[in-house]
Amino acid sequence: METYDLIIVGGGPAGATAALYAHRQGLKCLLVDKERFPRDKICGDAISGKSVAILHELGLVDEVRTLPGAPVGHIVFGSPNHTTASIPLDRYPLNDLITGNTLPMEGFVIRREVFDHFLFEKAREVCADCYEDFSVEKLLWDKDQVIGISGTDTDGQTRELYAPVVLGCDGYRSIVARQAGLYKLESKHWMVALRQYWQGVEGMTGKIELHFIDEVKPGYFWIFPTDDGRANIGIGMGHDEIKKRKADLKSMLQNAITSPSFQARFANAQPLEKPIGWNLPVGSKRRTIHGNGFMLLGDAAGLIDPFTGEGIGNAFYSARAAIDMAAEAHLVGDFSARTLHSYESRLWKVISSELRLSTQLHGLGNWGTLMNMVIGKASRNKEVSDLLCGMMANAVPRTQLINPLFYLKLLFD
Ligand SMILES: Cc1cc2nc3c(=O)[nH]c(=O)nc-3n(C[C@H](O)[C@H](O)[C@H](O)COP(=O)(O)OP(=O)(O)OC[C@H]3O[C@@H](n4cnc5c(N)ncnc54)[C@H](O)[C@@H]3O)c2cc1C
Repeated sequence: METYDLIIVGGGPAGATAALYAHRQGLKCLLVDKERFPRDKICGDAISGKSVAILHELGLVDEVRTLPGAPVGHIVFGSPNHTTASIPLDRYPLNDLITGNTLPMEGFVIRREVFDHFLFEKAREVCADCYEDFSVEKLLWDKDQVIGISGTDTDGQTRELYAPVVLGCDGYRSIVARQAGLYKLESKHWMVALRQYWQGVEGMTGKIELHFIDEVKPGYFWIFPTDDGRANIGIGMGHDEIKKRKADLKSMLQNAITSPSFQARFANAQPLEKPIGWNLPVGSKRRTIHGNGFMLLGDAAGLIDPFTGEGIGNAFYSARAAIDMAAEAHLVGDFSARTLHSYESRLWKVISSELRLSTQLHGLGNWGTLMNMVIGKASRNKEVSDLLCGMMANAVPRTQLINPLFYLKLLFD
């Protein structure tokens, strides 16, 4: 019988970082993924400050800087009335919420095929065993306690593997969550987003661009630079909103590309693929993400930011918190839901205020007018652009964004 201290199902950002943290805690770990790396993952490919903070802690940032991709120095916000504000990222250092470290603010756009492969290989080096092409099909139980997994390997053989803790890092269709009875597709808390790679889009510099334009309301149109002159573009929207409006995301993306503000930039550009969609379970509600002998991480736990669609940062945060929990559970020899509950409460303590704020921002009815006001001001006024930069760095409270007085002040300043 093969036994480990910990089994990690899924080798994306959540699973690979969990393996790296597990190694630091001396846990004997098995990592499995149903795919073979390098593999693609539909994403905007943006790696933000909070993700970089974790990469710093894991000692990986220097190597990440050398991966093919684009360093990000600015964020461009575009308003519905087509004003843009370009905010430099380096005005404030980042106060990272989970590590407590203060670091220079930096970000990257790196295709997930490259980034995930890099992380997976790092994880492979430190795991006791690591299986690709291994699809997990079942959780193994002893009464109501998870004790392992069963899955099919490359040769089509069913194998059973055992550990007192299983981490579900297996993305939005999580088999671990399904088997544990925690999987729920609630359209209010799910989004869909499309990604399309292009070659030759004009004006690609070290900036990521978020355009809150009418063609893709109530989401945004992103244009991110990546390696080899490629651009990652896309849009996203809530499942509810799509149903309500009978929205066709592919047409909306096409309308954004051909709209007067963008058509010149795409005039000599070629799409490298058809737009591809993927689901995003967002953290607009607190879900149960633990039970007897298991924890859910990253997209399996539904931790994506409902406003920005960013999920890698919280996937990393969840990995850090889950491994701290797994190590403590090993110390006391108790893997019950009662003990593992601490994982959920500690993680939620760090990420809940940001997720709550993003949910509130996403729900603001008069969003277009407010965007015109904030982005318009930021484009002309360094103080306001500084303020937005400070919010991204956690140096200035973001809650101002949902305070009417903030907008009144902007109006009259
Ligand atoms: C269009 C789009 C744009 C996005 N843009 C951004 C962005 O720019 N920045 C950002 O931070 N976030 C972005 N996100 C969110 C981000 O992609 C996710 O939050 C992130 O991938 C979560 O990582 P994860 O490790 O939890 O899951 P995943 O990356 O989905 O990894 C899950 C892994 O589990 C494996 N797996 C699944 N089932 C099984 C099984 N049964 N057995 C074994 N292995 C299994 C899969 O093969 C996969 O490798 C975007 C999402 C979408 C859809």
